[in-house]
Amino acid sequence: MIKQDIVDKILDAARIEEVVGDFVELKKRGSSLIGLCPFHNEKTPSFNVSVSRGIFKCFGCGVGGDAVRFIMEHEKYNYPEALRYLAAKYHIEVIETEQTDEQIQQRDHRESLMIVTNWAGNFFVEALWETPEGQAVGLSYFRERGYRDDTIRKFGLGYGPESWSALYDRAITEGYQEEYLTETGLIVKKDDGSAYDRFRARVMFPIHNLTGRILGFGGRTLSADKKTPKYVNSPESAIYHKSNVLYGLFFAKKAIAQADKCYLVEGYADVIAMHQAGVENTVSSSGTSLTEGQIKLISRFTKQVTLLYDGDAAGIQASLRGMDMLLSEGLDVQIVLFPEGDDPDSYIKKRGSSTFVEYIERHEEDFIRFKTNALLKSAGADPLARANVIREVVESIALIPNEIKVSVFIQECSRLLDIEERVLLHELNKIRIDDSRKKRRGAPKEVPVHPTGHPDPQRTSQSAGRTLSTLPEPGAKQVSLRVLQEEEFIRVLLTYGDAPATWAEDPEMPVAPLLINSVQDIVFEHPVCARILDIYRGYINEERLPENRVFTSHPDREIADLAISLLSSKYTLSPNWNDDKRKIYVPEEKENLEELVFTSVYRIKKRWIEQEIKQIREELRTEENPEDMTILLSKYQSLQDALKLIGEKLGTIILK
Ligand SMILES: [Zn+2]
Repeated sequence: MIKQDIVDKILDAARIEEVVGDFVELKKRGSSLIGLCPFHNEKTPSFNVSVSRGIFKCFGCGVGGDAVRFIMEHEKYNYPEALRYLAAKYHIEVIETEQTDEQIQQRDHRESLMIVTNWAGNFFVEALWETPEGQAVGLSYFRERGYRDDTIRKFGLGYGPESWSALYDRAITEGYQEEYLTETGLIVKKDDGSAYDRFRARVMFPIHNLTGRILGFGGRTLSADKKTPKYVNSPESAIYHKSNVLYGLFFAKKAIAQADKCYLVEGYADVIAMHQAGVENTVSSSGTSLTEGQIKLISRFTKQVTLLYDGDAAGIQASLRGMDMLLSEGLDVQIVLFPEGDDPDSYIKKRGSSTFVEYIERHEEDFIRFKTNALLKSAGADPLARANVIREVVESIALIPNEIKVSVFIQECSRLLDIEERVLLHELNKIRIDDSRKKRRGAPKEVPVHPTGHPDPQRTSQSAGRTLSTLPEPGAKQVSLRVLQEEEFIRVLLTYGDAPATWAEDPEMPVAPLLINSVQDIVFEHPVCARILDIYRGYINEERLPENRVFTSHPDREIADLAISLLSSKYTLSPNWNDDKRKIYVPEEKENLEELVFTSVYRIKKRWIEQEIKQIREELRTEENPEDMTILLSKYQSLQDALKLIGEKLGTIILK
């Protein structure tokens, strides 16, 4: 458990734009920030960050929350884990009660795996720098490759000793559990139950997630033995999914966002060499061909991707495959080919950093020209092969979601292939008609994609939206209307609670006590609204006003969710969030605050009274005692009067 004062300190320190900004490229729009939502698949930004309110909200998929919630959703952390993450980010010391063995065991499974991989990362680093074997074999290898010491440290490169059990023995001595060592693939279990280290006599490349924690490793052998595989990698695990990780992204993300461009290379060595050469916006798909998950990762930081490949036939084929996927995700694709036999790493080694930077700038080629030329070259003079080239190039163009780009590419392609534009357009339309037929036959529904690239079952079910999910019973119209009214009341309370009630006797008095006192005798039906009201009332009773954070950062998820939804509703967001469609409501609403307050109170009261009247009618039907009957009747009458009054008041307000 983290103490409440530490929690408060963390919440005070955590700035939403900084926390979100580590993962999402945010651009200023008006007084708020906007970016591509990391929780669903989108090409135009609907993910908003309100700096003043300290919350984020996606108008696409509906997810929203404060800084803690963002980390919980994004990193799949639970509440204390997210707090610890933020505490580390803001250098706040978290004092926690010492954990027993049992508690350690109970800790979240993924967290346990990460603790083990991060421990192993340190083990390999230590073995590299501090053991004679590591220095003689590992460190000298890296230095021979031209890596500077600061580069080796930055990437956390390490060394796995030539031993069957060096890591295993140390891990067990230090209390790490065998099951986690096995699951992360650091050790390999034999059938007889014994285990051995997976990474032996290898230099180690840790693979980090976006926050810099180690998910797995690639280990390169230093043995000349042909039977030893050159690379051994961590197996897939609950924390490591190869297809959703880009090597180097943690170190590259800032530079990618700044340069608004990402260089994509093939191997670890290329990434490290390029970072060392000062080209830090570089990542690698680590040998596997590019996956959709990896492309989504990139597109969160930039829309411009340049592929760097060596110029052999295999390299060209690989780049052609990668490009089509990038195109359909709406990315701008460039390509740089290196002279045959060279990759970025070897080129930098031979020619130096500045020549390298010059080379990539000069040889960057637009995808369409590259593909067309590459295919034309292989087709030669064969007319049939040339016809296929046209088809293939136009197929790629057809993937591009942006129509303006499509027409530019068609023009360029027409020039390169020496074919009339209308012929290409005809081909393009044919492909599109085919595609849409295919889609109609078996179109997979667009499922929101979790940042790991997997459809997120939680999110999918949540995406139905707040209003629907908060309604207690489908079809219970009376009830749902009341819930909406209660939500509106809470919205007005949270949004304008601290605004002065200029129309009141004491014009300094804030709106909140006015609102709360008017519904004193009313029990809210919606349980979350009722809880928010209770908490608020507690503050008012102490003559204090709660900050919105009390609700938006409330540990009870339902309270936080509702508060955030209400605070980021179309009415309240507009001036800050600067969305033209929403802007209209706001000035009106604030100008007519008195009406807004009265309306929300009266609506609640009206419904409450109607319900009371209904109940009294029931009682009158069965009541036999004349005295009680009289009391009920007078109560009935006064309720009717009140109802009439409220009806008139509401009527004038609405008609005004
Ligand atoms: Zn979203």
